[in-house]
Amino acid sequence: MLRAEEIKRLAAEIGFSACGIAPAEALPAERAGEWHRWLAEGCQAEMDYLVRHTDKRLDPRLLVEGAKTVVSVAVNYFSGEVDKALAQQAAPLRLARYAYGTDYHEVVKAMLRQLMASLGLEEGRDGRPFVDTAPIDEKYWAQRCGLGWRGRHTQIILPQQGSFFVLGELVLTETCDEYDDFCESRCGACRKCVEACPMGALRGDGTLDARLCLSYLTIEQRGDLPAEAAEGMGRCFYGCDRCAEACPHNQRFAHDTHIEAFRPRQALLQLQAEDWFGLTREQYQLLFRKSAVKRAKWEGLARNLEAVRQNLAAQGDEAAQEGEK
Ligand code: SF4
Ligand code: SF4
Repeated sequence: MLRAEEIKRLAAEIGFSACGIAPAEALPAERAGEWHRWLAEGCQAEMDYLVRHTDKRLDPRLLVEGAKTVVSVAVNYFSGEVDKALAQQAAPLRLARYAYGTDYHEVVKAMLRQLMASLGLEEGRDGRPFVDTAPIDEKYWAQRCGLGWRGRHTQIILPQQGSFFVLGELVLTETCDEYDDFCESRCGACRKCVEACPMGALRGDGTLDARLCLSYLTIEQRGDLPAEAAEGMGRCFYGCDRCAEACPHNQRFAHDTHIEAFRPRQALLQLQAEDWFGLTREQYQLLFRKSAVKRAKWEGLARNLEAVRQNLAAQGDEAAQEGEK
């Protein structure tokens, strides 16, 4: 049998900011109903992978045969270095915060593998690690494992830490001696994130309409951006942190990560707006090696930069007009 105290102690030693544990079982009917309604309304946009394997997503025992326990973990990726560096520039362009460091999929998966090994568990035989790549409802499990609650901005808020965290899970075939309680929402009457969203993407119930969300449009969507997206993007050409930045829990509790791989790459912080507008495919390859930004591909990034440039040029922005020359 697994020991909760040992799992949490080892998780903290490895660098996880939070770790919680719950029995592996089917998601409650209320959460399953929310998933089905969300999909039926088309809020997943063109992310067809969210439609596939819904049965597994709603029950981790179908994902890992014999699963008995889910361990949910969170890793802080916030860095105030980004703000300090961009404050030095007159008219900076920016990326979503998580995109300044190394791809979290690789970093967190490696940490989860280390946790399994420290517990004497073997991947495949005793369970599997997941980081945002398999059909598992990671936000549900983070809340079920007591890490935090799903805020109206859809992200998990860790009490007294905020929401600038990436999540990961171990689905294990052993039972554990102690499980955590579900974490109830503490958003109360607050709607700051909903009000801050430039696209009206947040539905107010902890879900969002991906068809309107800049994180989806600038990273996942292929082809042209909708006209209103460029205006909403402002100076951020990859992802969007607007709702998270508006959240009082982040404003109060966000703190620097101690995970070296998540510290921002200096080369990214040094680029000025005109450098971004003149970015070549070769520079992109070098700057974003082992970066989650590769998900948008060069074509997507170039499309985003052009949308921002045109929008800023229409507003009379000098750097954007320099990039036009
Ligand atoms: S990431 Fe941006 S566009 Fe998406 S919900 Fe948050 S504020 Fe709105
Ligand atoms: S801004 Fe307010 S409503 Fe939105 S996630 Fe934070 S606490 Fe919840």
